[in-house]
Amino acid sequence: MDRTGSTTLTTAALALLALCLPSPLRSAPPETVREDLEVERLAEGVWLHTSYEVIEGFGRTPANGLVVVSDGEAAFVDTPWTDDQTRVLAAWVQKRLGARLTTVVPTHSHRDCMGGLETAHDLGARSYSSGRTAEIAKRNGLPVPQESFDSERDIPLGSRVLEARYVGPGHTVDTIVVWLPDVRILFGGDLVRSAAGRSLGYTREADLDGWPASVEALQREYGEATLIVPGHGRPGGGELLTHTLELLANRPR
Ligand SMILES: [Zn+2]
Repeated sequence: MDRTGSTTLTTAALALLALCLPSPLRSAPPETVREDLEVERLAEGVWLHTSYEVIEGFGRTPANGLVVVSDGEAAFVDTPWTDDQTRVLAAWVQKRLGARLTTVVPTHSHRDCMGGLETAHDLGARSYSSGRTAEIAKRNGLPVPQESFDSERDIPLGSRVLEARYVGPGHTVDTIVVWLPDVRILFGGDLVRSAAGRSLGYTREADLDGWPASVEALQREYGEATLIVPGHGRPGGGELLTHTLELLANRPR
């Protein structure tokens, strides 16, 4: 075989190999639960949920959360936008994953994180948030998470644990992250912008000066993450943290 033929064969073999390798970012395509609610499997017993709501000034806006399942129990890291979406998601989890919603961890007080908290409580779930989130919720007349912590809480779920951590201010003063140590997935929530995010999003309640140090803390603490999930947009790797720092450094002043 001449050099050209061999090169062509190698290229073809590599292309075939690439097709057979699983994408590191997802193991299954997203599924539509309803037109305003999608789910996507990220790892064993870990699903991304994405709900859509029309927001004035932003249009139809997707928001991410996680469904984590262990031994028949399910946790939502952030509820969908609404009570109705939360009820539909919990029913899907029960039917499809055979798990009952027992735990909710809102990562800050905004509606894309705990808009379905009342329904989650009605369904029997226990909720955990930063004390700052609980305070803001109380002040704003929102449903208040039942258990709160200062900077960290390890929340058991069946045989797994969800590590909720406050690393500093950013998108809001109360935003936390949740680390799943067994699969090394970081839910960065609104501290982290997606790679496609061209702006910092809604910043009227942000601490823009304090935000970079919080992202640097994530870089230090979670360098071994296999996947980082932002509050909005596609999950990715460490480049999401770098991108968020760039957006912060280059923001209009
Ligand atoms: Zn928010």
